[in-house]
Amino acid sequence: MKIALIAHDEKKPQMARLAAAYREILRGHELFATGHTGKVVADATGLTVKCFNSGPLGGDQEIGALIAQNKMDLVIFLRDPLTAQPHEPDVNALIRLADVYDTPLATNFGTAEVLLRGLDAGFVDFRQLVNGDESKHEHYE
Ligand code: PGA
Repeated sequence: MKIALIAHDEKKPQMARLAAAYREILRGHELFATGHTGKVVADATGLTVKCFNSGPLGGDQEIGALIAQNKMDLVIFLRDPLTAQPHEPDVNALIRLADVYDTPLATNFGTAEVLLRGLDAGFVDFRQLVNGDESKHEHYE
């Protein structure tokens, strides 16, 4: 599975804790992240993370492009709702895209834990049922 990780600055310590706590689950998957978040996760886990641009420079949109190709299986986006983000429209656009493609997306630590445990239990296969179009799922093979 392909997993995207994004955390706003105030949430990066939380992302580091989450990634370290679920390292054994994450290690079985392909990890993608916005630039700084990717570094935080790689440092916390020692896992390989494909880093895109930083969020303000379009990293969210690079992840969005993969969601739009239905190639992303799970997104963990630890948002900071208390601080204005200069790239807020991109944040909202990414969340919207996840809803278009029924891609599981967590915006806080609690939901992220549920999704990661669900992923471990194999439940994300539900995306195949929801989308009902095998041709969209070449990436599962
Ligand atoms: P960053 O981007 O991981 O490069 O800091 C995250 C964001 O602010 O959207």
